[in-house]
Amino acid sequence: MKKGKKLYEGKAKIIYATQDKDLVIQYFKDDATAFNNQKKTTIEGKGVLNNRISEHILSNLSQIGIKNHLVKRLNMREQIIKLVEIIPIEFIVRNVATGSLTKRLGIEDGTVLKEPLIEYCFKDDKLGDPLVAEEHIYVFEWANKKEIEKIKKMILRINDFMIGMFRGIGIKLIDFKLEFGRLKTNGKNEIILADEISPDTCRLWDSLTEKKLDKDRFRKDLGDLIPAYTEVARRLGILHEQSNVSVVNVTKLSSVKKKTK
Ligand code: UDP
Repeated sequence: MKKGKKLYEGKAKIIYATQDKDLVIQYFKDDATAFNNQKKTTIEGKGVLNNRISEHILSNLSQIGIKNHLVKRLNMREQIIKLVEIIPIEFIVRNVATGSLTKRLGIEDGTVLKEPLIEYCFKDDKLGDPLVAEEHIYVFEWANKKEIEKIKKMILRINDFMIGMFRGIGIKLIDFKLEFGRLKTNGKNEIILADEISPDTCRLWDSLTEKKLDKDRFRKDLGDLIPAYTEVARRLGILHEQSNVSVVNVTKLSSVKKKTK
């Protein structure tokens, strides 16, 4: 698949056109940002790990009937995905209270919620992705009621599946962010899961020690992020000891290449 022109560059990914108008290439960068872009850095190897972890989760979700944009992973940093019209909402799914929820409502950090809580944030970096009510989505026509009902059903299935998948490898799924898009098929719009699911977009705590295995390591300066993401990948069975080494080697190699240019 030939990589065409850059269509969009976000904080952690770049989208490139392909010769097929319905497909694009999603490239995972090593850039990390937090607090609405106020904290920024580059973490070598993060993109490689997120590409693999997201591929793993999205393929598993596909097997349980959750349609999503992933077609296939191309290489260490890229995947072919279906081009969709992204619904401008970040769907935040919470099982345990932490982060912005605890600050906003004064809830004690670590409170287990009696049922999953879905929150909606309007995707707008300039505004800092503000929290909105379901009514805002309808009034401003970001999505219609039928679409939101469908998305909510998908979210609960995704959450159930992911809680179980992570529990099996000794990880608690605290919260995560999902994005959905509209795919035009035979003149009709179908809602599918889009974007990525990775330790950049989830909060993952070790079940026994509550050690943070996600982007909070960067947000809160908790120490190296790569060993934590590698641990998630290893527990998911994506990396065995051997390939673990090769991820490090590939990232080292690419940095050597960059430096010698
Ligand atoms: N999240 C994300 N992208 C965002 C905002 C949130 O992936 O732009 C994820 C975040 O990693 C966490 C969950 O959504 O797993 C809930 O985030 P919260 O609103 O608590 O974010 P905070 O403001 O504390 O970073």
